[in-house]
Amino acid sequence: MKVLKFGGTSVANAENIKLVLDIVINKSQEEKLVVVVSALSKVTDLLQLAASKAAANDETFKDIVTEIEKKHLEALKQLIPVSEQSGLLSHIKRIINHLETLLDGCFLLGELSPRTLDTILSFGELLSSYIIAEALKQKLKNSRYKDSRELIKTNNNFGKAAVNFEVSNQLIADFFASNENQVVVLPGFIATSEDGINTTLGRGGSDYTAAIIAGALNATDLEIWTDVNGMFTANPKIVKQAQPIATISYQEAMELSHFGAKVLYPPTIQPVLRKNIPIIIKNTFEPQTEGTLISNIVSAQTNPVKGISHIDNITLVTLEGSGMIGVAGSSKRLFEVLSNESINVIFITQASSEHSICIGILNSDAETAEIAINRAFQIEIAQNKIDPCIVEQNLCIIALVGENMKNHQGLSGRMFSTLGKNNVNIRAIAQGASERNISVVINERDVKKALNTLHENFFEENTKQLNLFVMGVGNVGEKFIEQIHQQKKFLKENLKINVRVIAVSNSRKMYFDEDGMPLKEWQSLLEKGESANKEQFIANVKALNLRNSIFVDITANEEVSKTYDQYLKQNVAVVTCNKIACSSAYDNYKNLKSLSRKFNAPFLFETNVGAGLPIIDTVKNLIASGDKVHKIQAVLSGSLNFIFNNFDKNNTFHDVVKEAGVQGFTEPDPKIDLSGIDVARKILILIRESGYQMEIKDIENKSFLPKDCMETTNNEAFFASLKEHARHFESILAEANQKESRLKFVAQFENGKASVGLQFIPKDHPFYNLEGKDNIVLFYTDRYVDQPLLIKGAGAGAAVTASGIFADVIRIGNV
Ligand code: ADP
Ligand code: ASP
Ligand code: MG
Repeated sequence: MKVLKFGGTSVANAENIKLVLDIVINKSQEEKLVVVVSALSKVTDLLQLAASKAAANDETFKDIVTEIEKKHLEALKQLIPVSEQSGLLSHIKRIINHLETLLDGCFLLGELSPRTLDTILSFGELLSSYIIAEALKQKLKNSRYKDSRELIKTNNNFGKAAVNFEVSNQLIADFFASNENQVVVLPGFIATSEDGINTTLGRGGSDYTAAIIAGALNATDLEIWTDVNGMFTANPKIVKQAQPIATISYQEAMELSHFGAKVLYPPTIQPVLRKNIPIIIKNTFEPQTEGTLISNIVSAQTNPVKGISHIDNITLVTLEGSGMIGVAGSSKRLFEVLSNESINVIFITQASSEHSICIGILNSDAETAEIAINRAFQIEIAQNKIDPCIVEQNLCIIALVGENMKNHQGLSGRMFSTLGKNNVNIRAIAQGASERNISVVINERDVKKALNTLHENFFEENTKQLNLFVMGVGNVGEKFIEQIHQQKKFLKENLKINVRVIAVSNSRKMYFDEDGMPLKEWQSLLEKGESANKEQFIANVKALNLRNSIFVDITANEEVSKTYDQYLKQNVAVVTCNKIACSSAYDNYKNLKSLSRKFNAPFLFETNVGAGLPIIDTVKNLIASGDKVHKIQAVLSGSLNFIFNNFDKNNTFHDVVKEAGVQGFTEPDPKIDLSGIDVARKILILIRESGYQMEIKDIENKSFLPKDCMETTNNEAFFASLKEHARHFESILAEANQKESRLKFVAQFENGKASVGLQFIPKDHPFYNLEGKDNIVLFYTDRYVDQPLLIKGAGAGAAVTASGIFADVIRIGNV
């Protein structure tokens, strides 16, 4: 004989109940079945709500009763032929009337005792089991209904009554011994006390009902039919990458369910464990999938961690004080107080000094616990030997579970460092003596991030997910997203990095997709997005709280550059091609770097100098390995290089600058390039990265632009002034030709001094042959004395800049 239990979603409506009936009829052809059913989905919650409203004198409890009635009548009408309906419909109405009478009582008395609540909650399973048994009878004559309240006997602990196994096992065995029917349908969750009063087995308790019957009957299997494909490596509603676990031991399943894997009500395992009856968790909506087998077999799989579970709504209560040291019985007293108040302790840690003891309980028990503990220890508190207990709410417990964890070192270290890297603060830690679980208490707002990052680390072949928030999608931004789109598959397969773009924004619009947007359509999605707002953008990034979040600034905007600190403080990495932050006041640059270290959030800006060329990374490596930079000489403006390489007798300076703009080699405001400011910013960043402190005003700018041009306030006026001063530029060119040299805009740093300006470069100089928009940097260091370290290549252009940003993103992925 098998026992099958169908949960709330499996019996949510007539359509689902039909699937259940198919499964039952199919299986009943092979052997006798016991079918335990939950209330229709959400009905227990609705009953609870109606009861509290009635007790609070809120008449709208009646609307809830109407809703419950409608749900059940509708289901029945769709499951039973019209000719058979009338008697059944009036039976349902009678049950509902009874429910309403009870709720009226609560309403009139303004009171709801745990005992009354249990009777009210029992209506969910009473209604569902009646309808399902009747629907089954239509298809399978040899089936019947049995009220579990006649078989399962408990004590009077309403809300979560304890089962009297001796009596219940006998009643169950007796009933089934004389039962001839192929299938018996029973309500889950409900029972009666020995004096015949309704009780319940705790929320989620239908699983337990099924296990009690399976245990009493020595069933061959207990099948728990639900809405997911088994017990998963983590709650699949929160961790999308979670996978069903094929086989798991009773103990592991018990730990996972104790720590919140709701798919199985924790006490369920006890009655079947003793008899060694396997539990199979199956999906009603995909019955062909294997599901999870829970048995006494400990699998010898390589991953010592079986699953990760969590419990929300946790409060930590800490009792501490010198009065606890060496005084026998403090913990005993503490636990007695909690037990007297029927408070369930989920988590315990005690400092080895015995100076403090910390327990985790549900938020809903926090107030009662605080009052009761402070009362119990009032004498010690009055004598200042113990402090009043400290209560911290809205926390969450996360547990790693696995039978083989005890044989592996370093798992807790790996757990803590994974959380630490994502800036998840751990409030308390406990490791069971069995070493079957390690649990930590963290802030509730971090739970999704923590679960996902731990899952990634322990189950996903070390695939690292990077979540990008991209601001600025002009020329470079567009190329950047295109490159990600193109490389996504490669990165996943070869580097185990999963890059997702969560948000894009331009100056008008912004668009967020928590699951990562389809990169083919980002443009149209952005158009449909909400109005752009930098503060809201930050708020969204913070609220999503995704692991490995990276803010990517592809603007040239000063306001955007002022927001980096807010990202870094949230442990969000910043990757930017915008030079403003790193070339702003030295204190600001330093502050961003120290925030990056403090919050473990990378701050990368390789494209600030030489676009995609690995210049900053090289300096960093030189410094990190103990080298010292003495002198830097560089041509750092791809734009100016392009301009001076193309400026000759056959064209005008104005036209060449225009052309550079068209080809995307200048900043949107070309004066930033031509004035030398852009180059000054770049050399400043290299100097700072080399370990020197300097401000932009310390860099001498020998501008080649006439004052008039410098003073223009918009692009149009600037270009007009370039035309006006054509002579000035021609004379510079003539001088260069006459000296047989070429014009290069050179940045220099030596002996603590820096300058930028146009220079006549003679034939034998390494800068002479610099082509097109190329950049070149020469580093003279302790190790590179006579021959400098030279980096040269394309230093401007959307594609190379985008690839430089991409490289920074991958650097973060490889950490
Ligand atoms: P039923 O109504 O069938 O009893 P429950 O809602 O009680 O179903 O349990 C199934 C739900 O448990 C799933 O939909 C899922 O959201 C949740 N759950 C939490 N942790 C896990 C886990 N580790 N594996 C599977 N499901 C889980
Ligand atoms: N209907 C009850 C509840 O929602 C029992 C169960 O579904 O297991 O808690
Ligand atoms: Mg359940």
